[in-house]
Amino acid sequence: MSEVIFHNTLTRKTEAIQPRDGNLVGMYCCGPTVYDHAHIGNFRTFLSQDVMRRTLQVAGYKVLHVRNLTDVDDKTIKRSRDEGKPLATVTEHWTRVFHEDCARLNLLPPQIEPKATDHIQEQIDMIKSLLEKGHAYATPDGSVYFRVSSFDEYGKLSRIADRELTTTAADASPNDSDEYDRDSMADFVMWKSRKEEDGDVYWDSPWGEGRPGWHLECSAMAMKYLGKNLDIHSGGEDLVFPHHENEIAQSECCCDTEFFRYWIHCAHLLVDGGKMSKSLGNFYTVDAIEEKGFAPVTLRYALTAGAYRQTINFTLDSLHAAQSALARLRRFSDAILAAAGLKRAALLKAIDKGKHVDDEWGPFAPSWKSLSNDLNIPGALGSIFTVLKETDISNLDPAQASAIAISFHKLIFALGYNLDQVILEKPKVEAPEEIQALAQQRWEAKQAKDWAAADQFRDELLAKGWKILDSKDGYTIDQI
Ligand code: AMP
Ligand code: ZN
Repeated sequence: MSEVIFHNTLTRKTEAIQPRDGNLVGMYCCGPTVYDHAHIGNFRTFLSQDVMRRTLQVAGYKVLHVRNLTDVDDKTIKRSRDEGKPLATVTEHWTRVFHEDCARLNLLPPQIEPKATDHIQEQIDMIKSLLEKGHAYATPDGSVYFRVSSFDEYGKLSRIADRELTTTAADASPNDSDEYDRDSMADFVMWKSRKEEDGDVYWDSPWGEGRPGWHLECSAMAMKYLGKNLDIHSGGEDLVFPHHENEIAQSECCCDTEFFRYWIHCAHLLVDGGKMSKSLGNFYTVDAIEEKGFAPVTLRYALTAGAYRQTINFTLDSLHAAQSALARLRRFSDAILAAAGLKRAALLKAIDKGKHVDDEWGPFAPSWKSLSNDLNIPGALGSIFTVLKETDISNLDPAQASAIAISFHKLIFALGYNLDQVILEKPKVEAPEEIQALAQQRWEAKQAKDWAAADQFRDELLAKGWKILDSKDGYTIDQI
């Protein structure tokens, strides 16, 4: 097993991952709210998490990946009411669309994908326990709030205290919205009493009809599925506060133990220098990028080629650069596999199953060092391309080619590029002299109006794998 280092938001340091349970890493990622297409910003985060997981696998860890589906909140309920359809019909439709997009972008499916609505009882149980311990209180309308002032360590993730904000109780300033609120340290809602706009979306509870608040679902599901493996918790940077801060407060107060150890956050994606918005017409989805003629692997490259902790600005131009970089990777992959007598799909499958876990990186050692050091993908790609430039495949014997093919494809697996999606333009090959001579004879026969001879030469060329394209004043020869 080799070392993998990530930046931990909790400690503000880069740290080597040390899972609680030997070589099994529990990894919880906050998943999508399923009420619409996920946009390419969401996918920047999901892709970074996918590269994290793949990198851990290549380093020799087993990863238990849990990513939830938020299928009840203000937005999903609004959508179901606007469309006059049951909540489950709407969320199941958008879950299917999300899964299709994930498959096209070559995201490994999480082993567990729990839905908030399937875990209402677990969330109610947590609230009960927090009430018993005095960390929560019910309000007269039948809602329940977490008492922020009851947890001394509140703010340890986001360092919100540094922003000198004051704590407000819910009865003074209730904060029961599912939307993010970045500037208030108010007590937050864990159980929302039923409101008229919720329609028929409600559950019974000891506090009356209602539904859980958004922060609670991730705490309940993470503890249920990763109870002994609370290692990595991850999301976009917007989730640091209040979502993850609140998850820590609820969970640590409920269980009196440390919640996750490593908190990893991805910076946001901007489009054309600003926030994505439907009204500006720059709200891109995977479909929209494909409609512009780019394969999903090209989008994957463009979204992951920058450092995940830095904001990136997406432009359509970045897709052209991605396309040519991927073509170089594909050509090298084809050539090195041919020299090694290996097949791409079988090799990648073996890597996924943990077959080539070793520290043999050969010329790709600097690339792995970059990747395993807080996912320095720009550094890794830079050194991969240096190796590609310096490697003369024709000089390698099969054993050398095989070693290079394996380490190269371990990196391709970690980066998750589906090279089969890369479309290569056929390189122009100059016709050999014999073919050029035949083509010239055909041209002369044609000029002399000897059609039979011209046809014969044409057929001979076709049989040898070449075709002639005539133009007004000449001809060109192309390989079939
Ligand atoms: P949501 O479906 O809004 O709950 O978001 C799903 C994931 O996408 C969360 O981890 C968010 O932090 C992340 N996210 C949302 N917008 C962006 C963006 N523009 N760039 C990167 N990640 C984002
Ligand atoms: Zn979450």
